[in-house]
Amino acid sequence: AEKVLQIRSLTAGFLTEKGFVKATDRVTLELDRGQTLCVVGESGSGKSVTAMSVMRLIDYAGGFIEDGEVLFSGSDLVKKKQQEMLKIRGNRITMIFQDPMSALNPVFTVGDQIAEALRIHKRMSKQAAWQASVEMLRRVGIPDPDMRAKQYPHEMSGGMCQRVVIAMALACNPELLIADEPTTALDVTVQAQILDLLRQLKQEFGMSILLITHDMGVAAEVADRIAVMYAGAVVEEGTVKEIFEQPRHPYTIGLLKSIPGLEGERGGELYTIKGVIPPISQLPSGCRFHPRCPHVMEICKQREPALLASPTGHKAACWLDEPGLKGAAEAETAAS
Ligand code: SF4
Ligand code: MG
Repeated sequence: AEKVLQIRSLTAGFLTEKGFVKATDRVTLELDRGQTLCVVGESGSGKSVTAMSVMRLIDYAGGFIEDGEVLFSGSDLVKKKQQEMLKIRGNRITMIFQDPMSALNPVFTVGDQIAEALRIHKRMSKQAAWQASVEMLRRVGIPDPDMRAKQYPHEMSGGMCQRVVIAMALACNPELLIADEPTTALDVTVQAQILDLLRQLKQEFGMSILLITHDMGVAAEVADRIAVMYAGAVVEEGTVKEIFEQPRHPYTIGLLKSIPGLEGERGGELYTIKGVIPPISQLPSGCRFHPRCPHVMEICKQREPALLASPTGHKAACWLDEPGLKGAAEAETAAS
């Protein structure tokens, strides 16, 4: 399949008084055209920084990309000047965030805000852009779009505003939509409606989606593939079916057990993974998950497991998972 996005060994982070602090550590991810990849992780896992790096918005947040490549339709966005990114961002790649209000300008009507992107990127006339924005509002399921287009964001509900933001993000017909926790701020019913909408629009527009979430349930709803991030690194990646039915990394297994309704609910207490995610500046030796892992072995404390693919392309970074390798590594550790 054609790759719309290939992130290769991306290390990005922030300059602090203590020097460079990594937020992502050699992240490698691929997204096929027309597919949805969900990046799942707790806060502090580096998933948002990965998204911000693809958009090169990290440059504006006091951070930078230290190493790696972000190939978008084959060309490396890391090497692009911000001047060149202006033609890509908001046009060929668009992004939606958790809080729709932060993406909307309170002093312009929603119709004008959608039209603005079309005027900039597609050089449409004022009238054509207005008509196209009303049409976009209709396509994202907003009733009476002619009337709604003339309203201001504060005249709409949160769910309605997120639909407007989605309309704005899709108006230029992007190849890639990045959605960072797009439903987290919404109540459960509206959340389901927005996820449905994203699924439907992906088909209609033929776009690819990189969706960032802390919620495995959300990933189950919309993903083709899921990447699980922990403390800055991808620890497992596979199809939705592989991740849910044959999870290979103990962290993923812990995340799955902590979904309400899957395992924990009937037993009363919901499972939680003991301990907390370490700051990436203070990673433990060996496997970054080892202080919290219920299956930790001696080798886990000494050597970092590589992210290895099975014959089907299901990847995991865990010594437990690679018996052959584990034996070899133990022998090597013992010999040294
Ligand atoms: Fe647990 Fe070891 Fe696997 Fe890390 S490598 S997840 S510590 S079993
Ligand atoms: Mg985040």
